[in-house]
Amino acid sequence: MTIWLASGNEHKRRELAAIFAGHSLKTPVEGGFTDFDPREGTQGFEENALIKARALYGLLEGAGLEGPVLADDSGLCVDALGGRPGVYSARYGGGKLGDKERNLLLLAELDGALAAAAGSPAGPGTAGAAYPGMAGAATAGRGARFVCAMVFLWGHERYCLVRESLEGVIVSGPGAIRGSGGFGYDPILYLPEKGKTLAELTEEEKNSLSHRGKAGKIIAQLLGR
Ligand code: IMP
Repeated sequence: MTIWLASGNEHKRRELAAIFAGHSLKTPVEGGFTDFDPREGTQGFEENALIKARALYGLLEGAGLEGPVLADDSGLCVDALGGRPGVYSARYGGGKLGDKERNLLLLAELDGALAAAAGSPAGPGTAGAAYPGMAGAATAGRGARFVCAMVFLWGHERYCLVRESLEGVIVSGPGAIRGSGGFGYDPILYLPEKGKTLAELTEEEKNSLSHRGKAGKIIAQLLGR
């Protein structure tokens, strides 16, 4: 079936196209909606996924096109930062930063938070052991997870919603940023059981364990092929 994806993020589209391989995924641009960028809320991933899904569904209705719509809202939640950046992940640092600057900002903020919690000023020594020494003390307080809320919607009040997550550890400092795969915060989320960051996995490996991959697979299974 044709499924409209409420996102212009090419990385997300690629990941989801592999999962929904038996279906045809169309982006807003393909429907002529070149500036699709609904205003997100602050309440949670679920709220934002629904905002995106309903916004695209409304546009499709207005254009005489048919759903269903698939929408995902996701982000990185860092324990020592009280779950931030969370729903603000795309806007973290003001929304104008590139992925690399955003990752460096997050590492610096995390160091500051951990140093403050330990009662000492932030300094080079607080960054922890060098990669791959992410075991023991270096990982203390660096727990984090990617969260994804995914909605499959076939009417404004008719949808199913899945929430999934992927647990990991924020790398020990800028020198421990690794990998060129994926996007966003992938190079700074270290997966202890893999001994790699998410950005060091192949797209297939990432899809097999990621927040978005797991949520997508549940919905794809519900749809059948
Ligand atoms: P959204 O498009 O509002 O869902 O924004 C999600 C933001 O969270 C992205 O811009 C990324 O910064 C981050 N994010 C979400 N999923 C991933 C992922 O799989 N890897 C890395 N960063 C992600």
